[in-house]
Amino acid sequence: MLHDYHTHTNYSDGDLMHRMLAAAENSELDAIGIADHCNVSDREIMKEKKHSLGFNLDMTYKRRRKAINRLKDDYDVTVFDAVEIDYHPADEDAIEAFMADAGFDYIVGSVHFIDDVNVHYIEHFEALSEQQRKDAVDQYFDMLVTMIESEIVDIAAHMDVFERNPALRGFATDQHYGAVADALADSKTVPEINAGRLLDEYGQPHPSDPFFEALMEHDIDFTFGTDSHTPEQLANRIPALQQVFEDRGVSPVTLDAVV
Ligand SMILES: [Zn+2]
Ligand SMILES: [Zn+2]
Repeated sequence: MLHDYHTHTNYSDGDLMHRMLAAAENSELDAIGIADHCNVSDREIMKEKKHSLGFNLDMTYKRRRKAINRLKDDYDVTVFDAVEIDYHPADEDAIEAFMADAGFDYIVGSVHFIDDVNVHYIEHFEALSEQQRKDAVDQYFDMLVTMIESEIVDIAAHMDVFERNPALRGFATDQHYGAVADALADSKTVPEINAGRLLDEYGQPHPSDPFFEALMEHDIDFTFGTDSHTPEQLANRIPALQQVFEDRGVSPVTLDAVV
């Protein structure tokens, strides 16, 4: 059973849903989880960011659910109605209230922002001193551990996503990894191995090799997440990510088995 729990459609920043489902049907996947971006923070700065990006799954998830229900029988693949929620400790109450209402099949949780700046923003972090960048990575891990301990999400996404940013790369330490491993060992939240930049400039899965090794000391399980936004990415990343699992000597788990 191969389930990809982390893909996107045009309900956030991905391709049309029917194109993603057709690609899933033509792949080795038994199930595809549509986990579009969603931010439900009521902090002003995040509301502005959300509106300028145009990701409004908190407003459109019911429409998306209708689309999923209409389309899913046309494709020979199981479809999950999921979400990739932006996590910040200050937003926990808002996230829990929204999730209780929305009733998604499962929740992928992501720390995408440090000091409310997206971790992918190279120029911003490049302009910081080395100490400030170290502090930023510390802060990232603090939020990640808090998210895992809260058990507010089912899957912890791309746990070293800041490594994609050359200005933040290389600041993660064994202490960071150990803290995440300890938190995961006691949590219902499961991490994924994520292929979001596996075939791009960064060229590594999340978590990186040393992070993965630290997690394996606690026998942590991983779900399979290509983080695909296009049919082409889905087709290319599935075999590449399967190879990562094989090289690392682990098998992806399905959520039923772990939640
Ligand atoms: Zn993400
Ligand atoms: Zn994603």
